[in-house]
Amino acid sequence: MRATTVFKLLMDLPGVTVSDVDFQPAKVVVTVKLRNKKLSCPRCEFTAKARYDTRPVSSSWRHLDLGRWRLEVRADLRRIECPTHGARTEGVPFARASSHFTRDFEDLVGWLATTMDKTALRRLVRIDWDTTGRIIERVMATGLDPARLDNLFVIGADEVSWRKGHSYVTLVSNHDTGKFVWGKEGKDTATLDCFFSELGEERSAQITAISMDMGAAFEKSARKEGHATKAVICFDPFHVVQAGTQALEKVRRGVWQDLRKLPDQDTARRFKGARWCLLRNPGDLSDDESATLRKIKRRGGDLWRAYALKEALRAIFAGDLSEEEVGALLDRFCSRAQRSGMKPFVTLAQTIRKRREGILAAVRLGVNNARHEGLNRRVRLIINRAYGFHSANAALALIMVTLGPIKHVLPHERVLVPNA
Ligand SMILES: [Zn+2]
Repeated sequence: MRATTVFKLLMDLPGVTVSDVDFQPAKVVVTVKLRNKKLSCPRCEFTAKARYDTRPVSSSWRHLDLGRWRLEVRADLRRIECPTHGARTEGVPFARASSHFTRDFEDLVGWLATTMDKTALRRLVRIDWDTTGRIIERVMATGLDPARLDNLFVIGADEVSWRKGHSYVTLVSNHDTGKFVWGKEGKDTATLDCFFSELGEERSAQITAISMDMGAAFEKSARKEGHATKAVICFDPFHVVQAGTQALEKVRRGVWQDLRKLPDQDTARRFKGARWCLLRNPGDLSDDESATLRKIKRRGGDLWRAYALKEALRAIFAGDLSEEEVGALLDRFCSRAQRSGMKPFVTLAQTIRKRREGILAAVRLGVNNARHEGLNRRVRLIINRAYGFHSANAALALIMVTLGPIKHVLPHERVLVPNA
């Protein structure tokens, strides 16, 4: 068998013939020719017989490694003039538009990124992290289920911070499937407006309930003309408890600032480790953390009272209580928080009173809290892994290819089309 034939079979790239194989130090360069005489636009369905000019564009792509060898595909491409996209280098059937990697290579990286940490991935595939980010963005663009925005009834809108709170992304999840269906950089009314405009009036009108945090931005968007005006706004337990945790965190920071002003820094030093034991659920604490918590209890004061309030709020939603029971407990909680005199909790009580109806709607409709919490925990893990990406879109793409409606097809799983 000739080397060109062997490589055609080994590489299994659609739509090409292999014209040359060249072994170079540490890599194999395989030159291919497109079989289709027609040119196609890389961005759309447009095809043409005539080329735009006669200048060939020398292009190369990295394909899957062959054992220890790096494999590079080369081809001279022609240029096409698309009525929509102008003069462009023609598209190839084995790679996505403007990529220097074959589709097989990208599909593999797209899947590995959902399951493997950054260091391992970089070592295995030998590409840098930002390149990985761009690959994931392309895999997302072609891989997400195109029907993901159809038949949305109960949805959740979430803001997630990435890069230590300086940058945010908004994510929309389908409560029925537990998958994210949409995401965009930003966290304000305009961000969610983009979701509704992509959804269109008809599909937006189908939405029966939206869960969100207690801020005003998302509700404002949902209530706009042509958006989900009839949907029940739900402030789900996850976000209510989160607001309680944030209030506790504010009190803790205040106490910490006061301690730092003391001449004796011993207490302040010991207090430093208190953060996690306060924020974690009591059931998840280690022995050391439980001991710290007992000390905080013995000392009493604002910190302990704030902790007790946060736990009381969490307990309201931990049981399987009816709407009426939750309502009564929330009212009691609000009086307690108000009486505490601690500013973050006084504000929280006001917010909960104002949002009472929406909180009870979430309980009544059973907007699935456990699933929501689980999804949020997984997003946090992905965000941690996405550290180092320089663009929010790459972080967003990593979330979507991991927790969105996507079916990863690896090179060996794809259906072989003989002689394609
Ligand atoms: Zn085009």
